[in-house]
Amino acid sequence: MAEKNEDKYKQFSNKLLDWYDIRRRTLPWRAAPGEISNPYFVLLSEIMLQQTVVVTVIPYFFRFVKKWPTINQLAKADFNEIASLWAGLGYYRRAKNLHETAKLISTKYNGLIPNNKEVLLSLPGVGEYTATAIMAIAFDKKENVVDGNIERIFSRLYKIEEPLEHSKKKIRTLSNKYLPCKRNGDYAQSLMDLGSLVCIPRAPRCKSCPVIFACKLGGRSEAGLYPKRLPKKSKEQRYGMFYLLIDNEGSVLFRTNKNERLFANMDVLPSVGWNGEKENLKTSPKIISKDLALFNLDWEILETKINHVFTHFKLDCTVVFFRINKKMTKNLLINKEYRFVKKKDFNQLAIPSLINKILTTFEDKIY
Ligand code: SF4
Repeated sequence: MAEKNEDKYKQFSNKLLDWYDIRRRTLPWRAAPGEISNPYFVLLSEIMLQQTVVVTVIPYFFRFVKKWPTINQLAKADFNEIASLWAGLGYYRRAKNLHETAKLISTKYNGLIPNNKEVLLSLPGVGEYTATAIMAIAFDKKENVVDGNIERIFSRLYKIEEPLEHSKKKIRTLSNKYLPCKRNGDYAQSLMDLGSLVCIPRAPRCKSCPVIFACKLGGRSEAGLYPKRLPKKSKEQRYGMFYLLIDNEGSVLFRTNKNERLFANMDVLPSVGWNGEKENLKTSPKIISKDLALFNLDWEILETKINHVFTHFKLDCTVVFFRINKKMTKNLLINKEYRFVKKKDFNQLAIPSLINKILTTFEDKIY
């Protein structure tokens, strides 16, 4: 029996690798057939891909490697430049971690990405999945890389009835049995490609699947219903107020967010009431009470509401507006946190997508 299973695992990885040799995706960080992986490219792409999809990452990856072709160059970069190129990729803390990791690799490991999982795990922003993926893809090590695509494939192969939230350990144990003895990096990437191209979320393309012979749901309409999930909790609704302050030259007041939570080190509009503060707003404000009147100004509430969805909550943004004169501007800038920025210089800032949305919506006010 054990021998029979071994044959099954081997047949599975062989079929998958044969398929990968023909159907593999061409990705900018991926080594071409017969080439050796560039560990810097693998590390950079894996950090960018955390909570972001491949298609979004590709242009960012190109911009980064064009500007900083090696990890040593990235390590020496000014963080503001990294932040500016990262803007729009989300989860800004990852950019900070990437820079810290690059600096550590450059100084402590001679600019070489460590070929050791424990060491990788000690680097900022490198968790279990990222370390495993780097070991497999960059160094061809026998590592069980399990991302969301691979969880979906194994849930279907075994027709796992428990919700994914409860079956991750089981999937990990099962997928571990299939690891081949060679071409480990290719095998990990072949599963990723199978999940992206064939065993896709709602309507898997079983007719094109190289491992249908091993799949309990292969070709069945219910396959798209796996993995099973726990019922979704509805997202918390939050309300925030954002201050759009324009000076006499048409520049906008920004604040560099030193806060280590959301938008850490990014350039934002001042805001209140929504980001886990004690005094969260309970609803959209209809009037500007004294405690909401930042700098004691006579703010105007703009009618258009901005809605934005984060991973754990939905945000209803009320934007308030004031055009300030020269004398008042000087008083405000006593506070070093704030600075006025001309519209033409916005591209030098690290502006999160929510703030971009606000600036675009109220573009006609910025002059
Ligand atoms: Fe997924 Fe269908 Fe292949 Fe099974 S046969 S792994 S459900 S694509």
